[in-house]
Amino acid sequence: MSELAVKDWVKQVIKQDEIDKYLVEGKDFIDEDSIVGTLNDNSRPDKQQVRDILQKSLRIERLSPEETATLLQVTDPDLWEEMYATGLEVKKKVYDNRIVFFAPLYCSNLCVNNCAYCGFRSENKNEKRRILNIDEVRQETEAVISEGHKRMIAVYGEHASSNADYMAETIKAIYSVKKKARQGEGAIRRVNINAAPMSIADLKKLWDVGIGTYQVFQETYHKKTYAKVHPANTLKGNYRWRLYALHRAMDAGIDDVAIGVLFGLYDWRFEVMGLLYHTIDLERQFGIGPHTISFPRMTPASGSELSTNSKYLVNDADFKKLVTVLRLAVPYSGLIITAREKAELRKEIIQVGCTQTDASTKIGIGGYTEALKALNGFKQADQDENKQQFKLGDTRSLDEVIRELAEMGMITSFCTAGYRCGRTGDKIMGLLKSCTEGKFCKLNAVLTFREYLDDYASPETKAVGERLIRKEMEEIKDIPFFKKGELLMNFEEFYRKIADGERDIYI
Ligand code: SAM
Ligand code: SF4
Repeated sequence: MSELAVKDWVKQVIKQDEIDKYLVEGKDFIDEDSIVGTLNDNSRPDKQQVRDILQKSLRIERLSPEETATLLQVTDPDLWEEMYATGLEVKKKVYDNRIVFFAPLYCSNLCVNNCAYCGFRSENKNEKRRILNIDEVRQETEAVISEGHKRMIAVYGEHASSNADYMAETIKAIYSVKKKARQGEGAIRRVNINAAPMSIADLKKLWDVGIGTYQVFQETYHKKTYAKVHPANTLKGNYRWRLYALHRAMDAGIDDVAIGVLFGLYDWRFEVMGLLYHTIDLERQFGIGPHTISFPRMTPASGSELSTNSKYLVNDADFKKLVTVLRLAVPYSGLIITAREKAELRKEIIQVGCTQTDASTKIGIGGYTEALKALNGFKQADQDENKQQFKLGDTRSLDEVIRELAEMGMITSFCTAGYRCGRTGDKIMGLLKSCTEGKFCKLNAVLTFREYLDDYASPETKAVGERLIRKEMEEIKDIPFFKKGELLMNFEEFYRKIADGERDIYI
């Protein structure tokens, strides 16, 4: 594509009226003075006050800014221990012992922006640029399916050649791939995307082809920092276009939206408050908060000094605290921890209430196909850092991570039923808040885990998994909710069918 064509495309991306319509008296929902004031006003939290707030989280009610600020300001280590334990309790109430897996698929690293922290930024001349064609998207999908994945998140740089039409084609291609497994047939059943903000018309194109969740990270809610790391002459330099990306998605019909911050750009307590205000504004304008919240920590990226020397880099102890407060502040949203983090820390953070993670992750463009070829002895694995966005902390296979979690008593769920049965947006929020969705999911987790064990698990993982499934089946029989109507009978029949090789049946 010519440089001129890219420039013309850039000019028409931002639609000012699709920002202005969400403002209140010309103002957005991030009031920095109020955030700093609330943090300062709640800087000496009282033990009883903190415990009362924890009770509110346990009732699965979203916390107020004042309550969230109070938790963020706790200094007593014993009180933090109580907060970690409550985080896990809240997670168990809403999501039980399940963990959902996904695989990111990097489709393109062409990008018109110049974010100071990212290996894909336009001025990074070391980066080898590449965009997958549709055949390559299918090959990558096959490789991902071979690991046992059922959910994918497609990731794109912002560029005319990876516009909404290209994204829609990639989503269709991913859904179209079916691949024979040991006993059944594998496929991706839910495609989420992480992509730059778009207009409502473009978002509708993604809705039409069956997008799952639309994820956009604000990176930082602090306006001065945002301006410093995103040059003003780029699309990403427009803070408000990004701030309302998910409001536009809601208006386009995409009601599962995902927010996030790139931790390490600014003060972590401020950013947690930003995520909370984002949640509150989505709830206020659409009645639904975020489906998930992400908290990637900035990791070293090719050619980015900021990614290693920012004064706001978050250490492991503070990372655990911020995830815990998010768990307590927005009890109904999923929390995503990624393979950016090292194995040991990921294990620890999952235990304060995360619900989703990735494994077998490859973040180079074409990375899954390359890895598969290397595994089959055709060529050396391409570990070229200049085709990647940043460095991963945990490169273990899906099988290994599933086994580790199963040993900890956590069942992997590949369930995508909620979304395919229309349990999205306000419907799923209601079910999550009343802790009902978790019950359907418990059944579907077992069904999809059965599929995984029969189709993909190694003998070691299968052995651990079988023990876990037996325990789950016993528990299910004892839960009064399941004794109502035909639910338990249907479940037992579906389980038998799946064990006999039938696939993709769910409650
Ligand atoms: N280009 C789109 C955008 O910026 O929204 C989507 C793709 S971008 C590759 C996805 C996310 O990667 C960004 O939102 C950012 O939070 C994250 N990211 C960028 N550089 C990173 C780094 N050095 N470490 C960790 N995450 C990073
Ligand atoms: Fe481009 Fe996104 Fe990377 Fe920024 S974070 S340079 S927009 S790919």
